[in-house]
Amino acid sequence: MRISLIVPCLNEEQAIPIFKQTLDAVFATELPTYEKELIFIDDGSTDNTLQIIKELATNSPDVKFISFSRNFGKEAAIYAGLEAATGDYTAVMDVDLQDPPSLLPEMIRAIEEEGYDCAGTCRVSRSGEPPIRSFFARSFYKLINKISKTQIVDGARDYKLMTRPVVNALISLKEYNRFSKGLYEWVGFRTKWFKYENIERVAGETKWSFFKLFLYSIEGIVAFSTAPLALASIMGVLLSGFSFLSIVILVIRELIWHHSAYGWTSMVCIFCLMGGIILLCLGILGQYLARTYTEVKKRPIYISKERSI
Ligand code: UDP
Ligand code: MG
Repeated sequence: MRISLIVPCLNEEQAIPIFKQTLDAVFATELPTYEKELIFIDDGSTDNTLQIIKELATNSPDVKFISFSRNFGKEAAIYAGLEAATGDYTAVMDVDLQDPPSLLPEMIRAIEEEGYDCAGTCRVSRSGEPPIRSFFARSFYKLINKISKTQIVDGARDYKLMTRPVVNALISLKEYNRFSKGLYEWVGFRTKWFKYENIERVAGETKWSFFKLFLYSIEGIVAFSTAPLALASIMGVLLSGFSFLSIVILVIRELIWHHSAYGWTSMVCIFCLMGGIILLCLGILGQYLARTYTEVKKRPIYISKERSI
């Protein structure tokens, strides 16, 4: 049996050697009968990541790589890896060892002995993370699970071991705006979940700023729910109803008491409120339109500059 491991790397020169050592050790001691294929995706790194990967590739035949022409993002890297993977089972894994390779034997057992199609992982704690970030992350999962048919487990990681049919299903989804956590769920199949405590990065720094995570969460919502569009329509209907009622009341008041022209301040407030709501709804529409625009252009998900496979 061959296991392909897809490892996206962006400026990870310090983490790569440690990752390779740890993984070799796990395969040597716990999975000696399995053949491994390590696919490093250099996602437009500006440090020595590519050189280090190339050195590894010349020294060990199980290391392969794809190097992007620029930074296309982790999602694009995962897609490139899935396309290139030839293993019977394929896993996506971070290079910073936040996805423990020691779980692999158990994950393989879940597929081989218990008949699952995938073995997924999620973290049960968020230790070492700023509390405000944890709060927004939790709120995001609650929100997306309320408004979308695709249910995403809170804390689910991209680290997942998949059988060939699952990998093929994921490759067949060629959308440009990719949100892997959602795509994993969307394709279905039976998943056994493995929970573990959060582990801090072994070396280097996280590539996700709060703002990047915020944009990523919008990506997830827009890709897997049209509820915000419905919200825009509902707000429109409610406000139109309210305005219609107000008009009726004001006309009656004018007919009976003849003094409808007061309340300049309240008028301004209402104008501002309406303006705000209209812009909000336009913004929501814009998010979907922008995604549609990038999809119809049908640009490739990534461009590789150099590859060994
Ligand atoms: N990564 C990538 N492209 C990016 C951002 C991140 O390939 O644009 C890789 C990164 O090298 C790492 C993995 O994705 O192997 C997860 O990134 P990171 O550890 O920074 O995220 P975190 O674990 O903090 O969520
Ligand atoms: Mg990490």
